[in-house]
Amino acid sequence: MSLLQVRELFPILNQEVNGHPLVYLDSAASSQKPTPVIEALKRYYEMDNANVHRGVHTLGSRATDAYEGARDKVRQFINAKSSEEIIFTRGTTTAINLVASSYARSVCGEGDEIVLTPMEHHSNLIPWQQVAKATGATLKYIPMEPDGTIRLENVENTITDNTRIVAITYVSNVLGVINPIEDIARIAHRHGAKVLVDGAQSTPHMKVDVQQLDCDFYAFSGHKMCGPTGIGALYGKKELLEQMEPIEFGGEMIDHVDLYESTWKELPWKFEGGTPIIAGAVGMAAAIDFLSDIGMENIEKHEKSLAAAAWDRMSEVEDLVIYGPSSDRAGLITFNLGDIHPHDVATVLDSQGVAIRAGHHCCQPLMRQLNVSATARASFYLYNTEEDIDRLVKALIKTKEYFDHAIG
Ligand code: PMP
Repeated sequence: MSLLQVRELFPILNQEVNGHPLVYLDSAASSQKPTPVIEALKRYYEMDNANVHRGVHTLGSRATDAYEGARDKVRQFINAKSSEEIIFTRGTTTAINLVASSYARSVCGEGDEIVLTPMEHHSNLIPWQQVAKATGATLKYIPMEPDGTIRLENVENTITDNTRIVAITYVSNVLGVINPIEDIARIAHRHGAKVLVDGAQSTPHMKVDVQQLDCDFYAFSGHKMCGPTGIGALYGKKELLEQMEPIEFGGEMIDHVDLYESTWKELPWKFEGGTPIIAGAVGMAAAIDFLSDIGMENIEKHEKSLAAAAWDRMSEVEDLVIYGPSSDRAGLITFNLGDIHPHDVATVLDSQGVAIRAGHHCCQPLMRQLNVSATARASFYLYNTEEDIDRLVKALIKTKEYFDHAIG
């Protein structure tokens, strides 16, 4: 399938917004959904819907097969060894909270360290602040270079024998930085620390191999990779998941229940209390099939070339400042346009049919490091084209002219 044909599989893109054909440049917040994913959800609800793991009837076993089949798809997609290592969650945030509340609280104490970076999304920051408060552990930050990249010598200098956990994003949702996870994991493991990777912005856009990264935990969301909202996954190495206690208790996750004591199912189900997100998993599996058919390498190449073209074109817009490194970056561009508030930029762009994001992007500490209160962000995915960049740049120039005129 060519990438031009791909675009036609996203019905939502084929509409006008405010009298202009829609240009959707906010996939880092949430991606659009292709017809095969929408159809898979429809088919599941029309044909197979039932609760899983207990029904002896045919629909129950079809739903169970679909749900457990989806788990195996996720396993293959990130190259985990076993599907016992894949826990379905509501998304990245819930996956990180599971590790923080279960694993981290049991291994951290006074004098221990949790190492992060200043570019973390609030979802990979606040859970660790809570662990630090509850256990007496301290938070430490690997310093960033002015362009937002991280130097390995600073990783070496920050991680010590007291570090229990290093929690870091693979790709920054603001800077587009791609962090050297394999190297960081090697350094962390030398000190006996475990590594959690926030894969929210990497998994949708590039080939991910958790065994090659050698991370201990990896969290990601379905809705950013063409799947439905409300589903995501946590990968964890089996020996770590086995030693962890569940944090949600109730139906589905139990083995034997007595009036005063209960025991849990084995992996992965001990972490999936209550009726699971069955349709979400079915939709996520369809999204994985869709992305795999196109090929993650092709998607990555396409987005990187869009980002490079956008960087060049946007750099020519007067007074436009771009944040993050100029090369080796993911497919998103965060910027400010003179002293026009990013919300105003996004509003004027929306009036021209161009959807971008404005705000702190759930990275308030990073905004402070960049010395801004907010930024605008254009993010690209497999369905975006050079024409979209053209529309973006033209809309930015118009916005600048509009404000110059209004102020002047
Ligand atoms: N981490 C990063 C880097 C993100 O971009 C996001 C989503 N904006 C999250 C975590 C949280 O993902 P979710 O809201 O799907 O849990």
